[in-house]
Amino acid sequence: MTFDVLFDTQKHVIKLLDNSYKKGRLVHTYLFEGAKGTPKLEAAYYLAALLLCASVEKPCLKCPECRKIINGTHRNVILVSPDNNAIKKEQTDNLGKEFSLKPVDEKNRIFIIRDIDRATMSAANSLLKFLEETGPGNYGVLITENLYNVIPTIRSRAQIVSFRQLPPRAIADKLISLGIEEETSYILAHITNSVDECLEMINEGKILDLIDLVKKIVNNIITKEKSPLLTIHEDGKFLLSESDKRFHNIFLDLMIAFLSSLLYLNLKQNEKIIFRNIIHDLESYDDLSPRQIIERIEKILNYKQKLKYNINIDLFYTQMLLAIAV
Ligand SMILES: [Zn+2]
Repeated sequence: MTFDVLFDTQKHVIKLLDNSYKKGRLVHTYLFEGAKGTPKLEAAYYLAALLLCASVEKPCLKCPECRKIINGTHRNVILVSPDNNAIKKEQTDNLGKEFSLKPVDEKNRIFIIRDIDRATMSAANSLLKFLEETGPGNYGVLITENLYNVIPTIRSRAQIVSFRQLPPRAIADKLISLGIEEETSYILAHITNSVDECLEMINEGKILDLIDLVKKIVNNIITKEKSPLLTIHEDGKFLLSESDKRFHNIFLDLMIAFLSSLLYLNLKQNEKIIFRNIIHDLESYDDLSPRQIIERIEKILNYKQKLKYNINIDLFYTQMLLAIAV
């Protein structure tokens, strides 16, 4: 676990936790909420380090106490994750039992529950009872990506801390630092706001093929040297036989991102260009006016709506490509 994304993108959270700690105003239950990929778990570990660090300047993130927290082996920090997609009563009961005992070392204890919105009603009730009875020195962080799915009685018991959406730039920089090629990093950062999700996509193996296919098809549309219909049937077989709608959505998002890059190139807003490498090979082509590019983006957005329904994928792409190729 690293804290750089947390420090770079959630300064308000660090400030809140540091100040509350210094003034002795930490509350016993926090609810960390924010989009997938925002460093909520890292912030929970940061809070644990504040409460347990052995150095004078807390948290140092280096002392043996901090190291154990970061490695997930500190006995006073308990992490609860959904079991089979749900936080179950058995899990919150166990937490209650554990925390009802006095800590052996008299130090602070912290529990962290991920995806608290997935707590069953009985788990939530058992947690509420436990929160009411919990003594000094015990702290909890509840984490969610869906604040409004958290049971209101839990929401009202905790101090809500909202995490800011990561800017694509921060995600791209992180991906580049992990060794992902620069253009690919910018493209991936644009279609999701989570570094983990980007890495998952790369590991699944299809995303790079999708990016290549989009480049070929948009190139066909601009240069008119080859029919995009031919390209999708030759190079896009993997997409046409894909039953997971997620990939079709990503494909359309990438098409839109490429066309938007063209628009930014046209408008000389180079810093907004996502398809950074290929766009420079295209620089000599300005066959599509900004108006024509926008029309094509709008058409793709309309087709994206149709993806929700039960459709014939082959026919879907044929119609869409015909609509934007002319
Ligand atoms: Zn420390």
